[in-house]
Amino acid sequence: MSATAENTFDIVILGGGSGGYACALRAAELGLSVALVEKGKLGGTCLHMGCIPTKALLHAAEIADTAREGQKFGVKTTFESVDMSGVNAYKDGVVARLYKGLQGLVKSKSIEYVEGEGRVVAKNVVEVAGRQLVGKNLVLATGSYAKSLPGLDITGRIMTSDQALFLDFVPSRVVVLGGGVIGVEFASVFKSFGSEVTIIEALPRLVAAEDEAISKQLERSFRKRKISFKTNVKFSGVTQSGDVVSVALESGETIEADLLLVAVGRGPVTAGLGYEEAGVTLDRGYVLANERCQTSVEGIYAVGDIVPGLQLAHRGFAQGIFVAEHIAGLNPPVIDEMGIPRVTYCDPEIASIGYTEAQAKEKFGEIETYNGSLGSNGKSQILATAGFVKLVRQKDGPVVGVHMIGARMGEQVGEAQLIYNWEALPSDVAQLIHAHPTQNEALGEAHLALAGKPLHAHA
Ligand SMILES: Cc1cc2nc3c(=O)[nH]c(=O)nc-3n(C[C@H](O)[C@H](O)[C@H](O)COP(=O)(O)OP(=O)(O)OC[C@H]3O[C@@H](n4cnc5c(N)ncnc54)[C@H](O)[C@@H]3O)c2cc1C
Repeated sequence: MSATAENTFDIVILGGGSGGYACALRAAELGLSVALVEKGKLGGTCLHMGCIPTKALLHAAEIADTAREGQKFGVKTTFESVDMSGVNAYKDGVVARLYKGLQGLVKSKSIEYVEGEGRVVAKNVVEVAGRQLVGKNLVLATGSYAKSLPGLDITGRIMTSDQALFLDFVPSRVVVLGGGVIGVEFASVFKSFGSEVTIIEALPRLVAAEDEAISKQLERSFRKRKISFKTNVKFSGVTQSGDVVSVALESGETIEADLLLVAVGRGPVTAGLGYEEAGVTLDRGYVLANERCQTSVEGIYAVGDIVPGLQLAHRGFAQGIFVAEHIAGLNPPVIDEMGIPRVTYCDPEIASIGYTEAQAKEKFGEIETYNGSLGSNGKSQILATAGFVKLVRQKDGPVVGVHMIGARMGEQVGEAQLIYNWEALPSDVAQLIHAHPTQNEALGEAHLALAGKPLHAHA
């Protein structure tokens, strides 16, 4: 295949979401020539259908709760109602501003941005609308889609997060199918907006990927918020009649609602894109890649949600940057998947890093744990939130897991990830001074306790 200079690049990236655009920006910074192919909107799922719009909804939800709870703090407020057109205008405004900024950023770099649906047609060629882009390296970054279950069609009042982000009404009763991250975040929003919510989860606990203590605390908090949930129960079918959906469970129970939100996970967008024909090994649709994001074909890399592992935007960013630096010959350190922070933004928030207690036992054998309640943390009491900071350490060794829950605790994940990634001992952290009164102190005090010198902790 003859390649013209204007169609030949150091890197051709397929997909302009978190993984793809981060790779493009870093590669351009390093002086590599880059083509970035995007069929939808630059920014992908995170910016348009994921992280950003959902967190805007969660913020609006927090404001609704604050209005309801003013009296608790001696402030006379009343909650009137949620105006979805106002909520959507606020959310869409946030997305639009960030989108504009990102478009400007990509434009300002020497990145060839190619609009259209691309397909890999040879080991080093992506075809878009008849144009062949030849890359010394290809980066696959086509992301993920909302999955459903066999026989469960997404239509009408049965929706995934894709549709639920654009609701123009507050449903009075919602069933959320799936108690993972997306499920509990939407459940939290709906409840704050005034819906009656029931979560259906097939596994024994909500947020089953988290430490068991976190699931227990979340379940306690959700019970207090009157968010219903059923664990260990499987969905068996659904019917829709007018505006009512009837959700049947294998237990024989049927629940009626105005909306069924299907949040059963996300699958990789890889079908029909020429990956396998180019020789790339897939496993159940996911692209297999090693710790350097290299696929089975030399010169083809994969980043983001199409690679098995945590489906998180910042993992995509990190992988995209890694690949650009690797191609530029900078020999970047490989990414430790356990060192990627995880935040679930429901109320109460969950933040964690590293190994759960069960995983750590299996991996390291002897471990120690400490669970410090937010009950003795001044700022958490001011905010009237319950929760804890749980630490897991290797016996006499570094901290290998930090698990936190409570209002706003997501903001504490920054220090937690330094502690894990720098392999800090509890005594290393214990000598660092944490500002008072902050929730950050709870993290500091947990380390003081684990280092054998507790301050406000009860024995
Ligand atoms: C409701 C929801 C909430 C979320 N909240 C968070 C959160 O709070 N924090 C967090 O870290 N993560 C969150 N995520 C996950 C996060 O959005 C993803 O991990 C991230 O977007 C993955 O980035 P990616 O680059 O792999 O894929 P995507 O962002 O999905 O981007 C892939 C891009 O490729 C394009 N594309 C696909 N096929 C082609 C083709 N053939 N040709 C051209 N372009 C193509 C798509 O249009 C898309 O723009 C959330 C996701 C959802 C759905």
